[in-house]
Amino acid sequence: MKAIVIGGGIGGMSCAIALEKAGIEVEVFEAVKEMKPVGAAISIWPNGVKCLNALGMKAALRALGGNMAYMAYHDAVTGAALTRFSMSPLVQQVGEFPYPVARAELQAMLIDTFGRQRVNFGKRVIQVEQSDNGVIATFADNSQAQGDFLIAADGTHSVIREYVLEQALERRYAGYVNWNGLVAIDESIAPADQWTTFVGDGKRVSLMPVSDNRFYFFFDVPLPKGLPQDRSTVKADLSGYFAGWAMPVQKLIAAINPDTTNRVEIHDIEPFSRLVKGRVALLGDAAHSTTPDIGQGGCAAMEDAIVLASTLASHSLGIEDALLRYQARRVERVKDLVLKARKRCDVTHAKDPAVTAEWYRSLKSETGERVLAGMCEAIEGGPLG
Ligand code: FAD
Repeated sequence: MKAIVIGGGIGGMSCAIALEKAGIEVEVFEAVKEMKPVGAAISIWPNGVKCLNALGMKAALRALGGNMAYMAYHDAVTGAALTRFSMSPLVQQVGEFPYPVARAELQAMLIDTFGRQRVNFGKRVIQVEQSDNGVIATFADNSQAQGDFLIAADGTHSVIREYVLEQALERRYAGYVNWNGLVAIDESIAPADQWTTFVGDGKRVSLMPVSDNRFYFFFDVPLPKGLPQDRSTVKADLSGYFAGWAMPVQKLIAAINPDTTNRVEIHDIEPFSRLVKGRVALLGDAAHSTTPDIGQGGCAAMEDAIVLASTLASHSLGIEDALLRYQARRVERVKDLVLKARKRCDVTHAKDPAVTAEWYRSLKSETGERVLAGMCEAIEGGPLG
């Protein structure tokens, strides 16, 4: 049995590794000649970590991950802690640690695990066809690849999604812009072993430790879509949006490197229930695009990979049947994650300012119990418990 995997991102590479482990021959085709991940880092929650463990990357992932032992929310203006608590109860409940990791390093780990020289870079798929016997992908350079089935892990702008759904879907702007990057840890900004977030006015500034003494930072600001982007004004723009915020936020703005700071207008896609058409299946952001507000988009792609490989390996009624079983096991799960993230997004970014003000008030009495319970629910809904 041979699989064609389109896309060499988190989803495509996790899938390629999982399928190969299940004894399936795999060829990966990636549009770009060189991978340049869009974001600086990503938090891999224990549901994603368990998937990477199962794919043989336990030690490699630990070496890349930051130590996120505590979590804290701070008031935007005074800088005072609204709440601070240990992540240990979460780790104890779900049996695994969360790992924030630099994206480029995660991507390299996945590609190297599969075999860098085996990924076909510079192959942009433009057409997919299938028959009763197999699939054919056609690339922009007019070359073709054949397999028994095809996994479309071609991201949120997936061209294969339209083939599967027989309609084009619009992405939905979530109402805010996110700037993100990496910066050396400075304990006068935030503790080195803590996920620290400053909140106020529907904006947030967040820092998570990754390996090699670095913070992954991000700034969120509710803004209209389509404003001009200019690297030369990043610091001035952030200084304006965060004028009057506490000293650690000002220090962070002063410390960031505009040349390596990414600016992303955050979108998601209304969840849909068809992930499969015959021998072609969607996976990762192609199948479910979420806002990053609960940090689960990449983790969900890893889960997809585990479930897909296990349905193909453990059923005997043919490829199309196994792909439909994959769809059945994933649809409700990914819909739940997308909608949870959208809800969190709206509260964090003041879609209704009264609701957000109430959330800020509630943080003052937060012991960690409610926040961690919500996280555990999302984590434990994954395929590996
Ligand atoms: P992608 O990473 O987009 O990869 C798709 C690949 O397909 C790309 O390499 C692309 O070049 C290739 N491709 C596209 N079109 C074609 C084509 N026609 N032919 C061949 N190849 C093609 N998730 C988390 O789990 N935790 C987080 O903390 C987190 N934070 C995030 C923060 C931000 C700001 C954003 C924007 C997202 C965040 N996510 C997070 C989500 C996560 O980044 C995505 O869910 C994840 O990258 C999806 O992986 P993917 O492989 O499906 O898609």
